[in-house]
Amino acid sequence: MKVMTFDFEEKRLSEEITKRGAKRVLIQLPEGLKKEGSRLAAVAEKAGALVMVSADPCYGACDLATLDGKSLGADLIFHYGHSKMIEQEQVPTVYIEVKAKVSVKEAVKKAIPLLKRWKKIGLIITVQHIQTLDEVRKLLLEAGKTVAIGDARRLEHAGQVIGCDYSNAKSVSKEIEAFLFVGGGRFHALGATLATAKPTIVADPFEKRAYSIEKEAQRILRQRWASICEAEKAESFGVLIGLKNGQKRFTEALKIKEKLEKSGRKATLLAVRDITPEVLTQFPDIDAFVNTACPRVSLDEASKFLKPVLTSNETFVLLGETDWEELCRKGLFGN
Ligand code: SF4
Repeated sequence: MKVMTFDFEEKRLSEEITKRGAKRVLIQLPEGLKKEGSRLAAVAEKAGALVMVSADPCYGACDLATLDGKSLGADLIFHYGHSKMIEQEQVPTVYIEVKAKVSVKEAVKKAIPLLKRWKKIGLIITVQHIQTLDEVRKLLLEAGKTVAIGDARRLEHAGQVIGCDYSNAKSVSKEIEAFLFVGGGRFHALGATLATAKPTIVADPFEKRAYSIEKEAQRILRQRWASICEAEKAESFGVLIGLKNGQKRFTEALKIKEKLEKSGRKATLLAVRDITPEVLTQFPDIDAFVNTACPRVSLDEASKFLKPVLTSNETFVLLGETDWEELCRKGLFGN
């Protein structure tokens, strides 16, 4: 992705510092956009603040650098690339969503023939393209489709999706036949089809192309079932509790530990920031893991791990509390 195709709102960065009289600022950028860090730091310094750029990995607003900001004495955080997810930040935070400055028209026009089997379309989109929602809706209406845009009020914008939250998609899932996803890459479209079990067509404005995500979703579903079957043989489990503030599901982890133990298995709670193969290989006596943190690590990165890393819902299948076919029909994750 070319970085200058995005709007970093430099003017707003300066204005917020001046308006709030911020003296010490922490800038947090997602992977792929960190290269803009020193340029944005220079802009913020000109506004009169001492500026630090977080060099730690960041993949979502679930990982807001609020504790780092606190320990560094920051009085303001600028979080780039995502919309607000954490309800009460401990350090005042400005979200700069980094809107894309590319046209969506060509990709959407290419997507329309791929939607020919369906009339009722759900429209979903990343925050980078949210400003084009109306334009895409009109293009679909002109093509003779009906368009539903969900708003479950959990995310900042109607129609928006993020890697682990498809509540907007799910809220219209029953009334539509397929989704059109507008955004870059396969990640969110794949999440949408796994979370809703509806066919999803991608219109990628960066690559100016459109395609179906169906085959990839089927491959992941087969892989997930294989992981559940493998985990059934496990005697000891590690139940992962996310340390990132938007990934911490303590009660859920405790409930799963209890259920695993009731079923005769051993279970150890493991608190973790980043779930990587290197971290998990440090526990050779554990046969399988349950991930209560970011579900996408289990779904998208399974081949990297030597042992099964199940999501919470998949663990309920293993425990016989949920039927696999039914879970696939309802959607693999999310409420
Ligand atoms: S939990 Fe995972 S998918 Fe959700 S915002 Fe965080 S990194 Fe993205």
